[in-house]
Amino acid sequence: MLRKKIRSEPADGRKGVGPLIPPLAETQRPLRQQVFELVRAAGLIPRVQVAKDLGVSPASVTTITSELIEAGLIEEVAAPREGEAGRGRPAVALGVRAGAYRVAGMKLSDREHTAVLVDFAGNLIADDVIPRRPGPMSLTEILDAIEALLDRVCAKAGLPREALSAVGIGVPGFVDSAEGTVLWSSVLADRPVPLAAAAGARLGLPVTIDNDANLVALAELWFGAGRGLSDFAVVTIEHGVGMGFVMNHRIYRGAQRLGLELGHTKVQLDGALCRCGQRGCLEAYVADYALAREASTALNWGHKESQPINVLLESLYDHAKAGNATAKSIFRRAGRYLAVGLANVVNLFDPALIILSGERMRYDYLYAAETLDEMDNLTINTGRPRPPIEIHAWGDLLWAHGAAALALSAVSEGLLAPQAREIAAQ
Ligand SMILES: [Zn+2]
Repeated sequence: MLRKKIRSEPADGRKGVGPLIPPLAETQRPLRQQVFELVRAAGLIPRVQVAKDLGVSPASVTTITSELIEAGLIEEVAAPREGEAGRGRPAVALGVRAGAYRVAGMKLSDREHTAVLVDFAGNLIADDVIPRRPGPMSLTEILDAIEALLDRVCAKAGLPREALSAVGIGVPGFVDSAEGTVLWSSVLADRPVPLAAAAGARLGLPVTIDNDANLVALAELWFGAGRGLSDFAVVTIEHGVGMGFVMNHRIYRGAQRLGLELGHTKVQLDGALCRCGQRGCLEAYVADYALAREASTALNWGHKESQPINVLLESLYDHAKAGNATAKSIFRRAGRYLAVGLANVVNLFDPALIILSGERMRYDYLYAAETLDEMDNLTINTGRPRPPIEIHAWGDLLWAHGAAALALSAVSEGLLAPQAREIAAQ
């Protein structure tokens, strides 16, 4: 589609130069939001350090922190002075008031639904898991599942649903987080689905949704290895292959807000058929269903609809471990295609770190030494080392934590920067 230029020229012909950044875009957060986020990230921090870190006057920090304390978002905490044990007044530091708000985070997947409850400082209050039968669900079925899971995790925490301020939900597939719409997902039969609005109406709580791979990246950014990194990638291998990319400490979402579909980048012209309907996608060589397809052919297992894919893959893995050459070759081949995908990520984005996550990371053949060697061969040779690869097989609870981080962002931005939330949803 061709874009029409719609800018009108001012009368004197002066157009200006430099990027046209809308006010309160995500790089220009209001100062009180910056102060709050700094306190939340630090855990505990003295006022004077807030002023130093943000490069603002101690007087404005005092004014803003008083407002935030008044609003019940942060609190003063007596912290022991370093090196002066027992002497003088204790130093006063600022911390997030953990009990101010509580949120829920959920991950919906083909295999199970997971939920966590966390407080305003991100501490875990309770978690729960409900297994499910694979296959797409209707909107009503998924709303029933969301509500049942939320009620269970609330009961576990001894809290009524009304004690929560927001819910974050992660689903696999193409998700427009800002709009709250699922354009396509393997867990939903209908499309597009305004899931955030529908779940919000059902639960009576504000709901924010996102692609599940983005939420793993968000979990790493908030709670894990990505806290101190400005640019890193998380590649998830489960039922599909997903990717979340953090650019300048933010989830990169793209112009159409659908993020990065690493699983559907092509690694073979006219290659294997992918469930997206196209051919040669990375996912068609690496994801669960690709391995299962190969396994049922190569190991002469009849295709049984009733056979859960997990059982098939476990069996394939056991065969490989026991020395079955065909089973091994299936994982090796998937690993080589994964190497192509990861090398492309390095060549395109130059991340500081790549984290591999998801249930399939249990299958260590996928990231065997030879896979990483293959990746080195496919990465452009700059004379500098390629980024480290870390394996985080932390499971769905971490993903649900990412959804909770999304909900915490929604609550704090709603309070501190309601206008900015319109522009940058996250
Ligand atoms: Zn595809």
